[in-house]
Amino acid sequence: MKISVVGSGYVGLVTGTCFAETGVTVTCVDIDEKKISDLKKGIIPIYEPGLDDMVKRNVEKGRLFFTTSLKESLAGADVLFIAVGTPPDEDGSADLKYVLGVAREIGMHLDHYMVVVTKSTVPVGTSHKVKKALQDELNKRKVSQQFDVASNPEFLKEGNAIEDFLKPDRIVCGIESDEAKTTLEKLYKPFVLNGHPILFMDIASSELTKYAANAMLATKISFMNDIASLCELVGADVNWVRKGIGSDSRIGNKFIYPGAGYGGSCFPKDVKAIIRTSDEYGHSLQILKSVEAVNDKQKEVLFHKINNHFNGNLKGKKIALWGLSFKPNTDDMREAPALVIINLLLEAGAKVCAYDPVAMEESERRIGHIIEYAKSGEEAVKDADALLLVTEWSEFRILDYPMLKKQMKNKVIVDGRNIYEPEEMRENGFTYYCIGRKPVA
Ligand code: NAD
Repeated sequence: MKISVVGSGYVGLVTGTCFAETGVTVTCVDIDEKKISDLKKGIIPIYEPGLDDMVKRNVEKGRLFFTTSLKESLAGADVLFIAVGTPPDEDGSADLKYVLGVAREIGMHLDHYMVVVTKSTVPVGTSHKVKKALQDELNKRKVSQQFDVASNPEFLKEGNAIEDFLKPDRIVCGIESDEAKTTLEKLYKPFVLNGHPILFMDIASSELTKYAANAMLATKISFMNDIASLCELVGADVNWVRKGIGSDSRIGNKFIYPGAGYGGSCFPKDVKAIIRTSDEYGHSLQILKSVEAVNDKQKEVLFHKINNHFNGNLKGKKIALWGLSFKPNTDDMREAPALVIINLLLEAGAKVCAYDPVAMEESERRIGHIIEYAKSGEEAVKDADALLLVTEWSEFRILDYPMLKKQMKNKVIVDGRNIYEPEEMRENGFTYYCIGRKPVA
């Protein structure tokens, strides 16, 4: 089998590489020339555990290729996956210009039957727009060529993308022909040998499933963050509340950890997009509007805690930040809470010195040198008035108290992920703020 994957970002590159791993011949396409020339040299443009080795192995085996030419990738391809970005438009809806651009380009060159699968996260109705855009180009060429469209949203998590792709909880496919179903069944067979299902459904349901899944997960996070705020007011401990509700199997214990707000390339934009779609159909998704509002507020919580500690006077204070990426094991900073916190700290006149195990380059690319960067967690806290733990990378989990006492000017820690123990903080003489638990003053 031969496939083309258009868009070689987090989703496209992982998708292409994992299919190549099963013996399929894969061509990954991107318009970004540097990305493709780097990939050809074995330089992986993103940080994703395990991806380097897997790309290298499949390139060496002659199963994985990279190109900037979509036309070239079409030769002999049975399936083409569209995995380009769908960033939010000004009004919050998903911008489909990249997806439809790819569809048109396919139509300009298609000369054999193929299944065109939309893997990008797209609103209901997009696969039909893809079909029309492609057909319009075939018509312009006066070519009569059969093809099928399908929807196959991706559920991988950055930081665990390979494992998620190789062992998915489920694979969702929206189809409208038997031929597309047979092709996708064959392609995905190696990934469902563990018994997890491929769910074939109509295309609209498949497209909506992706948004509903992300909206549900974002809802769990905002719900827990809202409960954490209430815990602080009534003197309860959110850790106990979390365990108390999470052991109810109807609720479950995953995704109910309070923190600094959700970020990343998916939840914020997908929540916005489903709200927008629903508004267009005259139905206001009240729950998700609140989920978004709670999250916007939550991203500011760490700032308010430290600002209150210094009685609203952060001018000239040095604040150390541990963690910049929106979550551990990725260098992705799209919509990261750290960006909101940094802005608020700088506006308040504080100096920020940050350290992240992998996202420093990405941060420099995004915000340049408006903050200082340290080479280690230890360097970041040198002479700091306070430390803010923003992303719970493993290397931050066990604190070196003697080092912190030696390096920091003030023994103040704001823990945005509840990973430290209040009792230890008390014993070591630290002032400690966390989320939804009593502070140690
Ligand atoms: P990304 O920005 O990392 O990658 C998109 C790539 O597409 C870029 O490299 C870009 O250069 C390329 N591109 C744009 N137009 C192109 C064209 N005409 N031809 C070829 N390449 C083109 O995006 P991503 O994070 O991989 O997300 C892709 C889609 O998958 C989005 O719809 C996203 O919502 C969805 N998704 C993302 C994740 C995730 O964790 N990142 C998970 C599930 C679904």
